[in-house]
Amino acid sequence: VYDAVVPLGGFGSEDSLLVIAPHPDDESISCGGILQRVRAAGAKVAIVWITDGDAFELDAAIIERRPIPGKKGMESLGTLRRVESLNAAAILGVPRSRCSSLGYPDGGLRSMMVDHYDSPYISNHTGYSVVHAPDSLALGSAYEGRNLVRDLGAVIDRIKPTLVLAPTPLDEHSDHAVTAQITIDLMTARQTLSQVKYWIVHADGGWPHPRGLIKSRILAPPQRASMLHWEELRLTDSEMEIKLKAISAHRTQLAVMRPFLHAFVARNELFASNA
Ligand SMILES: [Zn+2]
Repeated sequence: VYDAVVPLGGFGSEDSLLVIAPHPDDESISCGGILQRVRAAGAKVAIVWITDGDAFELDAAIIERRPIPGKKGMESLGTLRRVESLNAAAILGVPRSRCSSLGYPDGGLRSMMVDHYDSPYISNHTGYSVVHAPDSLALGSAYEGRNLVRDLGAVIDRIKPTLVLAPTPLDEHSDHAVTAQITIDLMTARQTLSQVKYWIVHADGGWPHPRGLIKSRILAPPQRASMLHWEELRLTDSEMEIKLKAISAHRTQLAVMRPFLHAFVARNELFASNA
């Protein structure tokens, strides 16, 4: 499988990269190297987060030092994770003015698109049914699929990306797979689907294996997505170090899933094309 991976490159100052991240930390673990490379080429870089990662209850229990975090605890986890994601973006060279957070509910994207396209979904993690975090793109918008589609479309139209890096529909996490489909629909409607490449984070029930920080690691595509046309970016030592720093900015995540996050600090990053 690995022999089929072809090199990715050739970025220039005319490029505009948009990373679409369902949760805080996805941008760093999947795109922490390529964001630096594209920025170094003089191109514009931007990130949009779909959720604030406010449904990670085990995580919240540890942060709050109590067994059941409750709705307030989940809300403050979301606030913390948004700050962490902005810190990570700064480390990767993405200016604050090119970071957008939509503020939709972690773990709720599939329900929003399937059952709540035009009626509000209520998060059973936070109890909210509207975008509530300050600085969200569409503060006060109901958790409805159509609003999510509208907001992500508005970000794409503002950034005018020449390259979009989004999760693949084959990612095992439902928020990731749903984000993938919305991205594909929006880019298809704009006749720009060829500008999308796809990363994967959740696959094969534990990819990349083994977990933990192995600086000589070269990622091979997971079995689940091995039929895709994969390209790779080889990272320099410096790019790997800065990627590790960006991942380390996600302190609440490191507290509970350090070996998982660290497994993505490898000599390469993988992206699948539509071909
Ligand atoms: Zn994620």
